[in-house]
Amino acid sequence: DQVQLQQVDECLWEIPKSARADMRVPAYVYALEELLEDLRKDRTLDQLMNVATLPGIQKAAIVMPDGHEGYGFPIGGVAATDVSRGVISPGGIGYDINCGVRLLTSSTRYADVKGKIGELVHELSRMIPKGVGRGGRLVLSTGQMEEVLAGGAEWAVANGYGLNEDLDHIESRGRLEHADPARVSDHAVKRGHDQLGTIGAGNHFVEVDRVEEIYDDETAEAFGLFQGQLVILIHTGSRGLGHQVATDYLKTFLNAMPSYGLHIPDRELACAPFSSEDGQNYFKAMAAAANYAWCNREVISWEVRQSWEYIMKEAGENLRLLYDVAHNIAKIETHRISGKNHRLVVHRKGATRAFGPGSPEIPDDFSKTGQPVLIPGSMGTHSYVLAGTKESMENSFGSTCHGAGRRMSRTAAKKMVDAPTLKRELLANDIAVEAGSYAGLAEEAPVAYKDIDLVVETVHRARLARKVAKLRPVGVIKG
Ligand code: 5GP
Ligand code: MN
Ligand code: MN
Repeated sequence: DQVQLQQVDECLWEIPKSARADMRVPAYVYALEELLEDLRKDRTLDQLMNVATLPGIQKAAIVMPDGHEGYGFPIGGVAATDVSRGVISPGGIGYDINCGVRLLTSSTRYADVKGKIGELVHELSRMIPKGVGRGGRLVLSTGQMEEVLAGGAEWAVANGYGLNEDLDHIESRGRLEHADPARVSDHAVKRGHDQLGTIGAGNHFVEVDRVEEIYDDETAEAFGLFQGQLVILIHTGSRGLGHQVATDYLKTFLNAMPSYGLHIPDRELACAPFSSEDGQNYFKAMAAAANYAWCNREVISWEVRQSWEYIMKEAGENLRLLYDVAHNIAKIETHRISGKNHRLVVHRKGATRAFGPGSPEIPDDFSKTGQPVLIPGSMGTHSYVLAGTKESMENSFGSTCHGAGRRMSRTAAKKMVDAPTLKRELLANDIAVEAGSYAGLAEEAPVAYKDIDLVVETVHRARLARKVAKLRPVGVIKG
């Protein structure tokens, strides 16, 4: 039987706490009605109700319009637990710790360099290693790995792979202070030692886009965006290192759960009290993996800038970092619930922070507009730049969606899509593609994803972020 959804308003549905005896809070689903069918096709709503049972969860378990089934938690999920009475759950962060997106902006118009895009894509593809398990040009010693895990994007800047000014435009300045490299296993460190500057599997990409539409002139100007501009979107995370951290701690948590007397409806929701030793160890290891991911996206930006210099014959520094957002992470944040401030562990799993105007955690240049929010769609459709809002602070712990979200499994997509045909079709639409493998490309076909325009329209109307600009791909390097 179908989960009953009570409509709260145009874009918001509630599963009341009374729907299941074990729910501690209600569940909220943000979606335009057209998107509900997809959300009902897999276990998303059941998983969301499971999340609502977590000890210490506050206000509601939330899923965004790009939501779909994931490991334990749905992807597109947001859950905030109380720092002193609540749990932390690796399934609420995901295997790719600090998977995230950044956008580099140029001062070049697509129309002026259209003939060079093919060469640029080719050069990017040569410079940026892609594919599962692929290593890169940087091979780090254990000591250097410790510096990366503690220093995040700062390590890249200090070692000549980035600009100082980039740091101001990264969520948390690209470094979580509570990271502890000693909490990361040797095996995880080993998996990460040669993967900085690489994108990994097929859902990750480096994409050249042009700005196709501006929705808000003033904010676009503050973000340095203009119609027809070439920009570069980068999506990847913490590679094998983060995956190993998640694997290690899920195992630890599963073993430790009985000793904490925690009861959960699904093993995949394995968790530990945030304040316990296990909880803290994971939190510190997760932060170290998050730092690795920020360093990775910084080194990739360096590779992009090198390629840009070589093909466009202008300084790589002309590519400026608009912002870098994490969409798989847990952070300690203070939010108001029923008029009172609460210290919370905010889990965002396939969800993007969308802090509004005036937030002390975002840089001064965005204090009037709200933080930039980057939402990739697919290699054949659109992506969006949004801005954080005051309403997201009030309603969703300062969070919004993270993409279009899958509507078809990888296996189903592979069966349905012929990759060489897809590549030709994209090229016919002026989108040059270089992929790690044809199988990976088929899994990532635009039909495998939901309608990005509907997903973004949902969060815009719900005011969880507001539209600033729409991007259209012109060249894509897929993992
Ligand atoms: P995830 O982090 O869940 O793997 O992916 C985030 C989102 O990226 C997906 O929901 C999808 O909408 C989007 N996406 C996947 N591949 C591409 C691509 O090649 N280009 C763009 N622009 N977006 C993509
Ligand atoms: Mn990822
Ligand atoms: Mn991602």
